[in-house]
Amino acid sequence: MTLTQQYISLYHLAEQTLLQSNISAFPVDPVRLCKKNGVLVTGYEKFSVVSGTPLQELLAISQDGFCMRYQERPVIVYNHDVSSPGRKRWTVLHELSHILLGHIDQQHLNIYERRQDVRRRMEAEADILTKCLIAPLPVALVCHVRDEKELRSLFGLSAEAAQNLYRDYRYLCARRRILALDAEPLLASCPRFFMEWRLKQLELSREQRRSILVTPTLEELKD
Ligand SMILES: [Zn+2]
Repeated sequence: MTLTQQYISLYHLAEQTLLQSNISAFPVDPVRLCKKNGVLVTGYEKFSVVSGTPLQELLAISQDGFCMRYQERPVIVYNHDVSSPGRKRWTVLHELSHILLGHIDQQHLNIYERRQDVRRRMEAEADILTKCLIAPLPVALVCHVRDEKELRSLFGLSAEAAQNLYRDYRYLCARRRILALDAEPLLASCPRFFMEWRLKQLELSREQRRSILVTPTLEELKD
């Protein structure tokens, strides 16, 4: 990644959205965030029954999910059967990002009605906003995240998203670039969460130390 003006603006949009939706703990509950923003979220099965669209047609649009205007409302339809909770979380927030960015409107009822080059730009924009909604990285800094695994657990990420976001995190922490995000408002809204996370982290470190010291039996320590 590079810290562009676009990234900073999208980070602020994510921060505003989280603050206005009273999100002060992580992982974010994507369905709650959608509801707070007037977006209806439903699964493929239910949408198939209500709209009379065969399930196969929905799966042909996307294996994961999509957003659209349906009866004048923004709606997100997603595939419950995807096994990774982190991936489902990403999908719903990615579709919410399209809606927040105005990528669907009266003229374009879904993203597939956009010209291909416009759509490509919109997909990239939605991906950046999704990253900032799912894992606002200044939160990771205050939580003293030390590795990819901790980042994954803090924000409820898929393995792939954790790998990419940890790379972004390292980049932003280097040369104190992360300070350019000016993240005080969001950080100030989560004091309880930070305390609970820190306690959990300390507990884990203590357990790790204990298991190193206690677990091996004499037999196991023999060459
Ligand atoms: Zn998309």
